[in-house]
Amino acid sequence: MLDARCYAKLGLSSIYDKVLAGRRLSYDDGLSLFACPDSTALGALAMHVRARLHKDAVFYVVNRQINYSNICVNDCVFCAFRRSGEDEPGAFVLSKEDILSRLRAVDQSPLHLDEMHFVGGCHPSLSLTWFEDVFRTVRAYNPNIPIKAFTPVEIAHLANLEGISTLETLKRLKAVGLVMMPGGGAEIFDDTLRKKICPRKADAAAWLRISAEAHSLGIKTNCTMLFGHLETFAQRVDHLCRLREQQDQSGGFTCFIPLPFLTKNSALVLPEDKAGPQRGLDQLRTVAVARMMLDNIPHIKAYWIMMGAKTAQTALWYGADDLDGTIVEERIGHMAGAESSQGLTIGELEAMIRCSGFRPVRRNAVFENLAPGLSEADHAF
Ligand code: SF4
Repeated sequence: MLDARCYAKLGLSSIYDKVLAGRRLSYDDGLSLFACPDSTALGALAMHVRARLHKDAVFYVVNRQINYSNICVNDCVFCAFRRSGEDEPGAFVLSKEDILSRLRAVDQSPLHLDEMHFVGGCHPSLSLTWFEDVFRTVRAYNPNIPIKAFTPVEIAHLANLEGISTLETLKRLKAVGLVMMPGGGAEIFDDTLRKKICPRKADAAAWLRISAEAHSLGIKTNCTMLFGHLETFAQRVDHLCRLREQQDQSGGFTCFIPLPFLTKNSALVLPEDKAGPQRGLDQLRTVAVARMMLDNIPHIKAYWIMMGAKTAQTALWYGADDLDGTIVEERIGHMAGAESSQGLTIGELEAMIRCSGFRPVRRNAVFENLAPGLSEADHAF
């Protein structure tokens, strides 16, 4: 039971009332939550929302990431994954055969894949036709694997390469099996900061417009926020409010993923007051605030690759209800210094969830519950 007196002492009485009544929080409420020093109180309030939506369910997916290339025309300052060309050490591009052999390796294992997640940057010459061909090849091999790929930034890039609209690009990708987009590239929407940390990326308006176009075609998408770098709390709250506004209009965001900035191999060096051990607690607070602010987005993910398994587990008590998945192979976070393992087994994921006090629920790429005995309570949206 939440104690109203505790929130009164913290100056959060009106937020407490709104959360308990299921009413929308304002921009100023978001600022007050980030200013609150009592993280546990934030977590408890976020848990109230999380329990109302999903009871004790925590979702996970049996998936396989395919990092097809890290060569990218952009030069985001925080990115440790990107290489400028094939000659640069660490650069890679997988062939169609490489991709298929990775798929075969997982498919012939006891895993039954519920998501194939393609990850890359904005490659200067891999064309829309190349991707259409890859997706057709994958689907010819196994037509049942849902394909998740492309951030709105990559869609803008492909459309540009092809000389067609982003909507047409999305239609062509949907025709060859794209059902889900991962929601990366949102970084932080504030224009001034965005120009500083990712100057060549599609801007916030384009990111939101392309997400809406995907939603209009029935392609579900996630949405993200890169935090813990140079942004202010006000810029975080602004970012969350813009996502919420977009969701009111287009309705296709399935999950919000707060992505903590990993400092280790990044060219973006943080000032001392932002780089210390407080970063772990900041991740939990951000999960909690997101859960309370994003009242129209069903799921909040604690992405164990970026947070680390221990923080991700703790985040389940701060409002997160999804851990992502088995992954098998991950490069973006690990090139940036992530210390998590490359993949987890189903047993490990379920154990993480159970020993945190929750009930594991296997889902597919578009967050449909795959557990037998599907429960309405698992999907309150
Ligand atoms: S974050 Fe993405 S778009 Fe930016 S440089 Fe890295 S790979 Fe390219």
